[in-house]
Amino acid sequence: MSGNAQKYEAVIGLEVHARLSTKSKLFSSDANAYGAAPNENVGVITLALPGTLPKINKKAIEYAVMMGIACNCTINQKNFFARKHYFYPDLPKGFQTSQHTVPVCAGGHVVITTSEGECNVQLHHIHLEEDAGKSIHDMDDTYSFIDLNRAGTPLIEIVTEPCMHSAEEAGLFVTELRKLVRWINICDGNMEEGSMRCDANISLRPKGATKLGTKVEVKNLNSIRNVKKAIESEIERMTAMLDNDEKIFQQTRSFDASNDTTFAIREKEEANDYRYFPEPDLPPLHLSAEFLNNIKNNLPPLPQVLFKKYHDVFGLSEYDAAQLTLEKDIAYYFETVVCTFQHNGHTEINYKAIANWINGPVKQIVNETGIALNEIDATKLSEIILIVESGEVSFSNASLKLLPAIIKDKTVNVSPLAHDLNIIQTKNNDELKEWVEAVINKMPDKVAAYKKGKKGLIGLFVGEVKKLSKGKADLKTVTQLLEEALK
Ligand code: ADP
Ligand code: MG
Repeated sequence: MSGNAQKYEAVIGLEVHARLSTKSKLFSSDANAYGAAPNENVGVITLALPGTLPKINKKAIEYAVMMGIACNCTINQKNFFARKHYFYPDLPKGFQTSQHTVPVCAGGHVVITTSEGECNVQLHHIHLEEDAGKSIHDMDDTYSFIDLNRAGTPLIEIVTEPCMHSAEEAGLFVTELRKLVRWINICDGNMEEGSMRCDANISLRPKGATKLGTKVEVKNLNSIRNVKKAIESEIERMTAMLDNDEKIFQQTRSFDASNDTTFAIREKEEANDYRYFPEPDLPPLHLSAEFLNNIKNNLPPLPQVLFKKYHDVFGLSEYDAAQLTLEKDIAYYFETVVCTFQHNGHTEINYKAIANWINGPVKQIVNETGIALNEIDATKLSEIILIVESGEVSFSNASLKLLPAIIKDKTVNVSPLAHDLNIIQTKNNDELKEWVEAVINKMPDKVAAYKKGKKGLIGLFVGEVKKLSKGKADLKTVTQLLEEALK
């Protein structure tokens, strides 16, 4: 970046489209499915045949409201659809049914954690709209083809205020949105399949200025990496322009992932004339308090809420709490294990130990083997955690031997299994002393160094005893015995 980069502040606002995972389209019973054969899900409404009328999909409204609640928005109980006119070959009606003056959700914010701490990304609104179809230009030399499967599928568009200032923030925001839509199960969040797409609006202004600069809009970014790269590239390009006293015009641009730069696709007039007007074929929506309460009450506990509970109530570190709330499945599994302890009458629960197990060996074995979390019996995992806490089995033997064993054979019981595997740690002092002595005799040089003050060597001795005992030595006692013997 130019040496003058510090002179300017970047301002970024994002428009994120998320495809709702409803069974049918927004205004018709045609299937809303990715990957079908071309034009398989195209009925008379999708084709906009004369005489057909739209009918709103209730589930789509429900999903939009769910997202609004998850993003701390105000839900507009009265909201309505509008026609947005533009000519587009894959838009059979000649207009897109969207929301304009009164969308379903207004305001709101999403919390992100940057390298400088927590901050809120302010939302302008969230609205519902239908997607367009797809033109295919590369299948034939003479003709363009059209696939209308996507036409009429339901989207929400999440529009932020121009409140972000770096590619990092924008990337974290999209990551958080993807986590949220997956968490509440309204969209699969698969950006590579186009389930989430992002337009990035970027402008620069002199540092300290309050008036916004002229923006450019980079369309259709289909990965978090590309969102970040497009913003970085635009900041660099516009910085160079301003440094050369060039004027920035409002533009729509596209991103070329092969060289991480953007190129202009059209100049944007001051304001687009979409000739919006209220959709006459759909009545305004009146969402009852009961409808909204029902949605609110059925929403799963949100990641921010669980994060706060794990951190403030359970006393876990921010890192541990964040790791546990990366995905709903993991948070729910953690909750299940905690419940198991409560259910079995434990009053002092070691939350840190449970978090360590789930963020450590459990996640590792899930990643390595591809098994589902629910294949690890929570009750048995809690028994493993307890057997380690009591000092009967070492953490490493428990994670390397007991954990895989309870996944492989659902019928085994933890304590007998530990005996069968011969991994119960010895508390027998005589046996421990023999191992300690053997190690001391084996390493006279190190022992001398230790006695001269290299106290850090104790870890080495303990490790040697561990090896010698094949993990069966209780290491706390071993450390004490070693310290006594080396006095
Ligand atoms: P348009 O009518 O061109 O779509 P909007 O005012 O509706 O523009 O804003 C669309 C998106 O662009 C929003 O996310 C908004 O935050 C962002 N935005 C608007 N003006 C600017 C600006 N000057 N710099 C950066 N982002 C902007
Ligand atoms: Mg726009």
